[in-house]
Amino acid sequence: MLEIGGIKAIDLAKKYGTPLCVYDENRLRGRLKEFKDNFRCDEFDTDVIYASKAFNCKAMIRLIDEYDCCLDVVSGGELYTAVKAGYDCSKVFFHGNNKTPAEIQMALQNGVGTIVVDNAMEADELIRQISGTDYKVNVYLRINPGIEAHTHKYIVTAHVDSKFGFSLLDEEEIIETVQKLNQTEGITVEGLHAHIGSQIFDQQAFVEEIRKMFAFASKLKEVYGIDVCGINLGGGFAALYTDEDKPIPVPQVCETILSTCREENEKAGGFIKRILIEPGRSIVAEAGYNLYTIGYIKKTPNKLYAFADGGMADNIRPALYQAKYDAVIAGKEDQPAYADYTIAGKCCESGDILIQSIALPEVKTGDILAMKTTGAYGYSMASHYNKLPLPAVVFAKDGEDREVIARESYDHLISLEK
Ligand SMILES: *Cc1c(COP(=O)(O)O)cnc(C)c1O
Repeated sequence: MLEIGGIKAIDLAKKYGTPLCVYDENRLRGRLKEFKDNFRCDEFDTDVIYASKAFNCKAMIRLIDEYDCCLDVVSGGELYTAVKAGYDCSKVFFHGNNKTPAEIQMALQNGVGTIVVDNAMEADELIRQISGTDYKVNVYLRINPGIEAHTHKYIVTAHVDSKFGFSLLDEEEIIETVQKLNQTEGITVEGLHAHIGSQIFDQQAFVEEIRKMFAFASKLKEVYGIDVCGINLGGGFAALYTDEDKPIPVPQVCETILSTCREENEKAGGFIKRILIEPGRSIVAEAGYNLYTIGYIKKTPNKLYAFADGGMADNIRPALYQAKYDAVIAGKEDQPAYADYTIAGKCCESGDILIQSIALPEVKTGDILAMKTTGAYGYSMASHYNKLPLPAVVFAKDGEDREVIARESYDHLISLEK
């Protein structure tokens, strides 16, 4: 009998309705603690920065605060949520390739500690806004190190056309930008940042990234006399969606990263003092479940469909990039498989298939389907397609549940319409 945070999934579905996003709060806490405990060493100041775009809401940000993690935001909206959660903005890292002038202003006014500058024009805008004020901000420069890693493969290329960051091949622009920033009162260029991809299973990708980043930081120092003391390696740590996935255990990937950093720092003369990582998915994905009520069952010549009362509006990942998920019928976990089902959503797109094929016990109308590992990029990517209201989000812990985001009503849906 599937329980989440000590509560039967069926009872949660009954209490809050479906579709419903549920987080096992102790698993969120466990993962945060695991990162905090393992990503530390004597040689460096280390920080774990939660990439909040994976799941950003006030309750989540308060947890981040409780575990003394820093916070990565990529928009005014994510920053606003952090401010409203009472989060200390000096621990915020503001990312994004096209932060608007208004967002930069908002960051400065709220005391955001670090802005990750993505391109030369953004640097100019930041300089323009900070000049003649008392604001102070640290800057990391986003570098495109020419490594792209997604799932099992990573490629080392001279990929110069990314929309993100300064290409390592464009040294002149980097030097010019860093010098301009450092000459501006209130701005300190603390370090370099890179983020090479997501759902990365091969830790060698991080090793390559670290080597490139340290090599470049050394070059900045030796050739150009530019001192940076921090390196932010980004996120991309994998989560387990189905049994095919073999994520690198957190202690192991932390150890690999830190030991590689130590080696490279030694070679470089030890001038790097601070190492940062930005996990998003790996903190929230596995703690999350999406609960759906099964509606109609339909048999076609080649498929047996079970229809869910949500779909691509609350989880676009299967439609967007063929993401695979595992699921159970709550209360029927012990029953033998009856058939392979295709779990389809209710949206008006043939591509709205949540699971292409999964062996399940006999599925009946009214059953509760629990999809696993839906905690990252699910609710945060949700849309109102077909004018479906967004689901509620519930945290469950030690037999108690609390709603952290209420379900939208039809009135919410049209509340801004004139
Ligand atoms: C998305 C993102 C992350 C987090 O990626 P995950 O795959 O969720 O770990 C970290 N840093 C930056 C800059 C990002 O854009």
